[in-house]
Amino acid sequence: MTLPAPADEQTMAHAKQRALKEIFGFESFRDGQEEIIDALLDGHNVLAVMPTGAGKSLCFQIPALVKGGLTLVVSPLVALMQDQVAALKLAGVAADTINSSRDRAENVAVWRRVEKGEISLLYLSPERLMSGRMTESLGRADVRLVAIDEAHCISRWGPAFRPEYALLSQLPEVFPDVPIAALTASADAATRDDIVQRLFDGAAERFVSGFDRPNISLAVEIKSNWKRQLAAFVAEHKGESGIVYCLSRKKTEEAAALLCEQGVNALPYHAGMDKAARQENQNRFMTEPGLVVVATIAFGMGIDKADVRYVVHTDLPASVEAYYQEFGRAGRDGAPAVAHMLYGLDDIDARRRFIEADGTDDAHRMREHKRLDVLIAYCESPTCRRVGLLAYFGETAAPCGNCDMCLEPAETADGGEDGRKALSAVYRTGQRFGMAHIIDILRGAETAKMATTGHDQLPTFGVGKDRSKIEWRSIIRQLVAAGFLRLDVAGYGGLALTEKGVQLLKGDIGFAYRVDALRTPEKPERKTRTRTPPPSLDGGQAALLDALKALRLELARAREVPAYVIFSDKSLIDMVLKAPATHEDFAEVHGVGEAKLRDLAEPFLAAIAAHREGAMAD
Ligand code: ADP
Ligand code: ZN
Repeated sequence: MTLPAPADEQTMAHAKQRALKEIFGFESFRDGQEEIIDALLDGHNVLAVMPTGAGKSLCFQIPALVKGGLTLVVSPLVALMQDQVAALKLAGVAADTINSSRDRAENVAVWRRVEKGEISLLYLSPERLMSGRMTESLGRADVRLVAIDEAHCISRWGPAFRPEYALLSQLPEVFPDVPIAALTASADAATRDDIVQRLFDGAAERFVSGFDRPNISLAVEIKSNWKRQLAAFVAEHKGESGIVYCLSRKKTEEAAALLCEQGVNALPYHAGMDKAARQENQNRFMTEPGLVVVATIAFGMGIDKADVRYVVHTDLPASVEAYYQEFGRAGRDGAPAVAHMLYGLDDIDARRRFIEADGTDDAHRMREHKRLDVLIAYCESPTCRRVGLLAYFGETAAPCGNCDMCLEPAETADGGEDGRKALSAVYRTGQRFGMAHIIDILRGAETAKMATTGHDQLPTFGVGKDRSKIEWRSIIRQLVAAGFLRLDVAGYGGLALTEKGVQLLKGDIGFAYRVDALRTPEKPERKTRTRTPPPSLDGGQAALLDALKALRLELARAREVPAYVIFSDKSLIDMVLKAPATHEDFAEVHGVGEAKLRDLAEPFLAAIAAHREGAMAD
């Protein structure tokens, strides 16, 4: 379906609403979407930072349809492209992809259709788009919008840097006057600036929205015996869908087996399994209720299951951003969910070794270490988790009352004096040295660096001998977490005082540190409190939901697309609640646009009718 080219603003607004309802089947825009769409329709370049699942795709898909002509979508992963294209086709949109996983003839056929102006959205990898031949050919096509998904891959500051993305800096020259949308879920302030610099020469409209996930309760538990801790957590969440992340493939197998022994329906998922088995486990997770997937981070890209009730990390994730993305797969339906992390000193070592083993340059490794420090600070902070997390993404918040620190404050001690010692060492050395050197000064270590810097002459040299390195590291991380010190992640990881830090140094304010974080983690048992209420479906409705999920799976298999491309869980639940009897009713279901109404109403209406008759016969 194509929309007629709008002549003025009013028709543009109308076309936008029509696309939302008639093509995607949604009632209203979500937070942040409409502003981004409007900016693109006005012809501006845009950086949109939105968390995973917030609905970034719609932000360029609707402008693409309203503008008409051809929109290019750059995406880093073939699998992601194919899922999006499949979903768009099902919604009746002329979308396609040219990529390396398809044979030449298929790619040529798609290109023919592009030349004839029959394609609205064309998905490409960055290297394919930027190849000389492609840019030349596209120069003759009617390109009206370019969208870059996962735009943080262009930033060398980021952990996800991809050299192919660097080529995209030339896009404004290749397509002058065509608005470009850069979209990402994961960008700290430094990465955002870097994206805007590289793509737009520093000038773009920026939109950051919706990082708070208030329905997800956050908790970090110090790791003592992960098996026991995991089993205890899962036992408290019997019958709920969950994801358990482990660092290694071996551990996922081990953990899945452990949970199965406890009578939990758990499946492993990692990149070492063969593709069919992985696909099978993913499909089961999408469709069967109460299933737990134990996975490496290979699992989750593009997962759109609304009723995941918890995400457990049995190991420390790679960074705050990675953590946010991973636990964000819980509670997409807005109902209460839990993000639970186990964290131990060994994890920090393991992560540090990972970073060291990474073959890239020193500056990159250094930044990764700093990123890890920020995450550790999050784990050890005695203050509200949500406040810390949102501060990282540039949003402010009040204590949430829904995290472990709010619900059960940790034991703290007065750290004013220790804090002042550390801040003083940072201040007197010019606010450019990293944690290791500052700790050496505090502990009076006679290192080679002391000799060259002369820092062994400072009055602070050796004033912190009474504390171990581990203790000082924790104190400094807590000073970072509480906003007294700032870590320069984009630069070389130097520590600097914030305004709050200056006040502490002057003695105007105090600092309390978390006592348990200083000790080698041993055996503190933190109870989980959050219980999620049972879903509000009655028995008959639950049975209907199961039937609809089975139908979805069958249709997905027949069409060789992931189940959620047919309908999301949210749509199925809405279908159960509305129990449509006619095509007209069906059109009102969440996620039903014209194409899905045409293609899918019949089988689903039949299933609902069959269920209704069955219920009456009972
Ligand atoms: P992201 O790319 O930000 O991770 P997606 O674009 O994949 O998120 O969207 C996540 C889910 O939200 C999809 O199932 C999508 O259909 C749905 N969605 C997006 N916008 C809306 C909306 N305005 N109303 C209802 N559902 C929406
Ligand atoms: Zn809180």
